[in-house]
Amino acid sequence: MHAGSNPLPTGHETRKDTASAVVMYGDSLLIERPSFFPNRDYNVELDSLLMAEDFDAERVAQLRLIQTAGSLSNAQVTSLIDSLFTLSEVPYPLINEINLYITMLENQRARHSIFAAEVPHGSPHPAQQLYGNWNEEVPHPYKLNHTNPDTGFYLKLRDTLWFCDYYHPHNGPVTSRFGWRYGRRHSGIDVDLEVWDPVHAAFAGQVRVARFYGGYGRVVVIRHYNGLETLYAHLHRFKVKAGDYVEAGDVIGLGGSSGRSTGSHLHFEVRFRGEPVNPENLIDFRTQTLVGDTLVLHKTPHWYVGRTTNVTIHRVEKGDYLHKIAQQYGVSIQEICELNGIRRNSTLRVGQRLRISG
Ligand SMILES: [Zn+2]
Repeated sequence: MHAGSNPLPTGHETRKDTASAVVMYGDSLLIERPSFFPNRDYNVELDSLLMAEDFDAERVAQLRLIQTAGSLSNAQVTSLIDSLFTLSEVPYPLINEINLYITMLENQRARHSIFAAEVPHGSPHPAQQLYGNWNEEVPHPYKLNHTNPDTGFYLKLRDTLWFCDYYHPHNGPVTSRFGWRYGRRHSGIDVDLEVWDPVHAAFAGQVRVARFYGGYGRVVVIRHYNGLETLYAHLHRFKVKAGDYVEAGDVIGLGGSSGRSTGSHLHFEVRFRGEPVNPENLIDFRTQTLVGDTLVLHKTPHWYVGRTTNVTIHRVEKGDYLHKIAQQYGVSIQEICELNGIRRNSTLRVGQRLRISG
């Protein structure tokens, strides 16, 4: 189904351009590899894109092309290519779509390769594209670039695709909050506990540090898939070692007062790229639940300031149409169209994700 296998029309500039354009781009995908989050699949990246405040409609359209390119029938592609020759100008996304299809057809496994390529082999650590390094010796090995104070990040806190759910590390009264304390900054929150009380992983991830380290005493640091790291200090015993994968709720250690600590308690930190985030920005310690599904982070000179938000993503099901979806959520069709960069008459595909609010 190569474009070149169609007989080339003669004596018409535009037609020639069309054909060469298809051939020219045919051997490389024009879609850049996503670089920010480690990609599990395109749906995940689509979701996170749709979550973003500065919504990148072009990128979303690109990813949707990737998804549809693999599901077109031969007849559909033939008619698509045929239709190119009747146009005076070929829309770029259309060329892209055909390129993708050709690339996939050339190798039966191409579709698989394209999707598998997004998960880097031999890089097993969560959020590695965000950090670039993995240090099992030091709790805070990161040097942060402070030059861009307005950088905002959107992290999903709860999402089955990201294997994210929340489990409260220890159910106890808060004895010291995050912030400045006697001229020193307290980078975490203290929760009262008894020695030997179990301490649980807040989210799923991989244990990066599990060792005795200075004032922290026995400390565990876990890197999570969304890029957050959580830290659990003053432990009495370890139940994990560096490199272990944990699920939310797994017991990672037993509470104590090792290191610089007066009385047994859990010192709990949430960090992003090494910088502390107030745990109470995302966790309600009275109800032991998350405040919201998505964490929005803004860099300040001292730490990240976070707030949570709840964005709804609708997954298109069989029989869905825009009017129905708009009614379901109590929003206007126009609103959905603007939020997703689609038109009123756009065809919805089963499985397609639409941003509804936020
Ligand atoms: Zn503390």
